[in-house]
Amino acid sequence: MKSLNEECGLFGVWGHPEASRITYFGLHSLQHRGQEGAGIVANDAGALHSHRGLGLLSTVFQDDQSLAQLSGQAAVGHVRYATAGGDGVNNVQPFLFRFYDGNLGMAHNGNLTNACSMRRKLEEAGAIFQSNSDTEVLMHLIRHSKQTTFLEKVKKSLQQIKGGFAYLLLNKTEMIAALDPNGFRPLAMGKMQNGAYVFASETCALDAVGAQFVRDVNPGEIVIVNDEGMRIETYTKQTQLAICSMEYIYFARPDSNIAGINVHTARKRMGRKLAKEYPIEADIVVGVPNSSLSAASGYAEESGLPYELGLVKNQYIQRTFIQPTQHLREQGVRMKLSAVRGVVKGRRVVMVDDSIVRGTTSRRIVKLLKAAGASEVHVAISSPPLKYPCFYGIDIQTRKELIAANHSLAEIRQIIGADSLHFLSEQGLIEAIGLQNNAPYSGLCLAYFNGDYPTPLYDYEKDYQKSLRTC
Ligand code: AMP
Repeated sequence: MKSLNEECGLFGVWGHPEASRITYFGLHSLQHRGQEGAGIVANDAGALHSHRGLGLLSTVFQDDQSLAQLSGQAAVGHVRYATAGGDGVNNVQPFLFRFYDGNLGMAHNGNLTNACSMRRKLEEAGAIFQSNSDTEVLMHLIRHSKQTTFLEKVKKSLQQIKGGFAYLLLNKTEMIAALDPNGFRPLAMGKMQNGAYVFASETCALDAVGAQFVRDVNPGEIVIVNDEGMRIETYTKQTQLAICSMEYIYFARPDSNIAGINVHTARKRMGRKLAKEYPIEADIVVGVPNSSLSAASGYAEESGLPYELGLVKNQYIQRTFIQPTQHLREQGVRMKLSAVRGVVKGRRVVMVDDSIVRGTTSRRIVKLLKAAGASEVHVAISSPPLKYPCFYGIDIQTRKELIAANHSLAEIRQIIGADSLHFLSEQGLIEAIGLQNNAPYSGLCLAYFNGDYPTPLYDYEKDYQKSLRTC
């Protein structure tokens, strides 16, 4: 069975009388990381209660009762972004597992690369899975572990799973945060004025609840918070930083900092680098709202061309990528954006977008701009061509759907109908983000662009090798 991809948002708090409400606010600012489902598990003096459902956070918690019943001083929450085929509420997190010796809440962001083989092994040993999410694998490993303490069980289990993961666990006495050995997904720690500890996928959620940033959770770390305070341990020393570059390029919110680097500033530098690498004869620069506005402003500043509002986004439409079929995705793009005729008519436009995945968005926007009277549309992309799938938690698992894996630059330009097409170089991207780490690519994962995966691919290796031969 194909496991479900999880690219999500996590939030947790320990030590606040309104823990579930704080978690709601935190998740609200992480909504861009997932819109298909949401949930919260709260700890009320050792008793764990949960509420979860499909859709936006505001839909799942639309009546105040659902939050009010989650009383207690600790909570973990999750917003979920899944691929096609997710079968309903059973896969919505956090999961709440009930055991005779105490319940366990669990939320996960990322994708495990050995989930299928682990699951097979666990099922053969008698485990019964409730969902087809990767996340349950960790719970079964913990329950099967022969270690004596809960913490040792968790550590031993984390050593057995591979891939990209940020976890938040909540039991009756503590909250545990853990990050994979490469730190593919971001996870930040903060502290509230009353001393409560907070964890969030992005620092924007710490700001939203008024928490002070303490530090990022580092690769291979496990952080334990209980009524005695917070302590940091490691479950492995074999770590190598490889932060997902798509977090900086597209996924994260511009007001978040990842590894101390502000996302908006990094995107702006990507735009500047792009303008240096590809100066274009044009009249105006237009960014594709919202994720490309930072890069577009960088391109405009560096090139000296005016930055114009040539595209307007309907703010009440969800991200197009979320739609599970190509037909719905195309419909999504149409509903999402319109061109400003008065701005683009008769103008040579540099259209800046952050990435091209399947080509749907660029093709549609070039068409929109031309229909609104743009005399030329030059497409400038603030990342390199996406040619390889991601197995660590970004929803691109087959090469078949990646336009750059199957077409040359000239062909893509033609397919999207642009007058010219340019992508930021790999080195330009590394320098623009500006991580200072000794690991390869300065501590970034660039596998989507160059196929250089920082880890073995385990369960995915065979299919991946096959796709290299066929795409
Ligand atoms: P496409 O239309 O398939 O070429 O997708 C490209 C658009 O999707 C770009 O405008 C990006 O902002 C956005 N995008 C890029 N990567 C992702 C992703 N992993 N998930 C959701 N949206 C993405």
